[in-house]
Amino acid sequence: MNNNTAEVVIIGAGIIGASVAYHLAIRGCTDVLILEKAEAPITGSTALSAGGVRHQFAREVNIHLSKYSIDRFKNFSEEVGGHADLRQTGYLFLINKEDTWAQFQEQVKLQRSLGVRVELLEARETLKYVPGIRLDDIVGATFGPDDGFCDPYGIASGYLKRARELGVRVALSTPVISAQLHGDHLVAVETPDGLVRGEFVVNACGAWSGQVAALFGIDLPVEPYRRNAYMTERFPKFPDPIPLTFDVETGFWMRKEGDSVLFGLANAAEPPGVNLNVDWEWLPEVLEAGIERFPLLEEARLAKKQCWAGLYGISPDHMPILGRHPEMPNYLHASGFSGHGVMHSPATGMLIAEEILDGRAHSINIDELRITRFRNMSVESETNVY
Ligand SMILES: Cc1cc2nc3c(=O)[nH]c(=O)nc-3n(C[C@H](O)[C@H](O)[C@H](O)COP(=O)(O)OP(=O)(O)OC[C@H]3O[C@@H](n4cnc5c(N)ncnc54)[C@H](O)[C@@H]3O)c2cc1C
Repeated sequence: MNNNTAEVVIIGAGIIGASVAYHLAIRGCTDVLILEKAEAPITGSTALSAGGVRHQFAREVNIHLSKYSIDRFKNFSEEVGGHADLRQTGYLFLINKEDTWAQFQEQVKLQRSLGVRVELLEARETLKYVPGIRLDDIVGATFGPDDGFCDPYGIASGYLKRARELGVRVALSTPVISAQLHGDHLVAVETPDGLVRGEFVVNACGAWSGQVAALFGIDLPVEPYRRNAYMTERFPKFPDPIPLTFDVETGFWMRKEGDSVLFGLANAAEPPGVNLNVDWEWLPEVLEAGIERFPLLEEARLAKKQCWAGLYGISPDHMPILGRHPEMPNYLHASGFSGHGVMHSPATGMLIAEEILDGRAHSINIDELRITRFRNMSVESETNVY
């Protein structure tokens, strides 16, 4: 075997590339080569993720992706090896606007109709999960007991290790820099070490996938946006665990990470770009929103060295973009997860393997996730995003 050719070439060795490789390999397709620009695998967004998993989405297809994936995390060690460390400590959404509450109640109907356990709570009932919430304007809350968080690095390295044991190859320090096309066929990708020919090529480059698609002449609307994760020092006033708790109106979120509190809030005004420095100038806004809803937080001390920033790869409707490219059917999209790539990685790996090996994904209908949706006049967005 050399690294100049493979049946399937996967670009990107994050959780998505690793899951696609694993799902191909367990179906007997082991002539797979992952090309990764970094010196080590799993150094992109996967390593910088907060690892949240949830069923509470507004769009049915997202709920299917979550249900399937979270079930697979439960038996990850037995199935794949390694560890997913799934902790189903719940997601709690606090809502303070009547119209948002009406939307959430509709979403809960949909979630329940698909077999998801979700509770509708009155304001004061939320205190059994998180102490000291300011409740005067809360009109309701939802709690998903089967949501929680997992270990993204453990999952990605588990998939990658098993895939390698089955014969998948990984070429590190090997960026894809260009491509050789013949009509609507992607013949080879180019790296500094030369051309790599693949019958199929999967773009699993996360926040960089738009840039990589452009090398193939494809307009993939996925852009990198910075997300900060701030951490406090030990803070026992919030017990461990608390659910991953969102103040829906502001988007402030927090959960326990060991004895500390991990928290964040997206800066909607920040333009796209690759910036991995923690945004300290944004922190006062985050703290203001957090302390306003959770006054106890004022007593916590920031653990500056434990804070980090990473990238979301965001699509225009906050939904993943999956499947074969219509005008170049041997090139496949697997990106645009908009902050949910870890929790949707098992389903994505399985579905992309189906696209390649069976001609079309069939375990979950991904037609509304295909890139062709952006050619329509109106695209329905996932609204439950932060
Ligand atoms: C702060 C933060 C919190 C998050 N919280 C959550 C959460 O709670 N739950 C959740 O599900 N998700 C969360 N996410 C999102 C999640 O991390 C991503 O959706 C997921 O990791 C995407 O995986 P990936 O494999 O597609 O991308 P990555 O892990 O980024 O992997 C892509 C790989 O492609 C490589 N690459 C790029 N360009 C090239 C090239 N030209 N040639 C070769 N290789 C290339 C990169 O080096 C990288 O290794 C969070 C992200 C951040 C930053």
